[in-house]
Amino acid sequence: MEESATLAMAKKARELKSQGIDIISLSLGEPDFKTPKHIQEAAKSAIDEGKYFAYPPVAGYQDLREAIAKKLREENQIVEAKAENIVVSTGAKHSIANVFMCMLNEGDEVVIFSPYWVSYAEIIKLAGGVPVLIEGTLENNFKATAAQLKDAMTDKTKAVIYSSPCNPTGSVFSKEELEAIAEVFKSKKDVYVIADEIYELINFTGQHASIGSFPGMFERTITVNGFSKGYAMTGWRVGYICAPLFIAKACEKMQGQFTSGGTGIAQRAALAAISGDQQPSKEMEKAYLGRRELVLNLLRDIPGIKTHVPEGAFYFFPDVTAFFGKSFGNHHIKNSDDLCIYLLEESNVSVVTGAAFGAPDCVRLSYAASEEDLKEALSRMKKALVALV
Ligand code: PMP
Ligand code: GLU
Repeated sequence: MEESATLAMAKKARELKSQGIDIISLSLGEPDFKTPKHIQEAAKSAIDEGKYFAYPPVAGYQDLREAIAKKLREENQIVEAKAENIVVSTGAKHSIANVFMCMLNEGDEVVIFSPYWVSYAEIIKLAGGVPVLIEGTLENNFKATAAQLKDAMTDKTKAVIYSSPCNPTGSVFSKEELEAIAEVFKSKKDVYVIADEIYELINFTGQHASIGSFPGMFERTITVNGFSKGYAMTGWRVGYICAPLFIAKACEKMQGQFTSGGTGIAQRAALAAISGDQQPSKEMEKAYLGRRELVLNLLRDIPGIKTHVPEGAFYFFPDVTAFFGKSFGNHHIKNSDDLCIYLLEESNVSVVTGAAFGAPDCVRLSYAASEEDLKEALSRMKKALVALV
């Protein structure tokens, strides 16, 4: 199994920083905001109340599961969602691992909309499955289509996974695009879609569609979400699924053997996040939009960089093939891995190779960083890239 490229790059950047090198890290997809105050306060009260120190129920506290189900019914129109369909876990990554561990037998295929988030393919392989990629290109905003999905499906296909808004591309599937994808499922039995909606609250189109809300799709959909991105709670480790009952029960069983219920105090914080004031999340979304504009203009100013305009999440995923075959000093750039090392060593900016996301022509940069850091990072990158001949 491969190491997580995002976490590996973050580790490298941290190590260089600890040696006193002025690294700007645009590698890790992690909000630079603090968790909103009212959520912090809820965690403090939970400690003071002294009621949440024991093992929590494996699938999560009942009130949190009810609040999540209510949110999914009211905001995502997943009208069938009930508390019993919800399994709270230690982050969306854990939820995805639960699902694939439960669902896949040796040799089962999972179609992945590519470019895709690093961990999907590795978790699928770990669970004995076989990843099958369908590829979106820069020209179509990196969105593979329903027709590609149909062609990729075989008798062995067990599941399909995508993220929207997408990590690493920031692309967002429209309702119509998702309807076309849902249509493909009509002719297939026993195939499930895993809809990773972790960036739901960072969506500049103003419209988030959940495939689990479409007619006939509730029983075929595992909606994955969590608190890391929209509420700036990466370190609290809370995520969840909403799934058909038999899958939710299987995930609860799996989780009961692996990790037990997620941290009690963090679940109380999550309850405050989902049922409390949503304004801080909206403010963060606004700030990300401002940064997107900033970075877009700075990227467009670098000769050779080709980018689309991301509609959500907080990533750019530019094509960097114009730099392949070029050199500077001892650096010979053959691919995007080389380019990332070059940028790290020459400009002290860390970004992640697109190869980790199934798109070796690209690099991913996260703009969940201050405007000051973004300006400085892009200016350093420009200098280093222009120097390549
Ligand atoms: N899905 C996607 C698309 C992600 O980018 C991430 C990274 N945070 C996750 C899932 C996992 O999130 P969590 O922090 O909840 O484990
Ligand atoms: N999801 C974030 C990213 O893609 C965090 C790192 C990780 O969990 O892989 O950078």
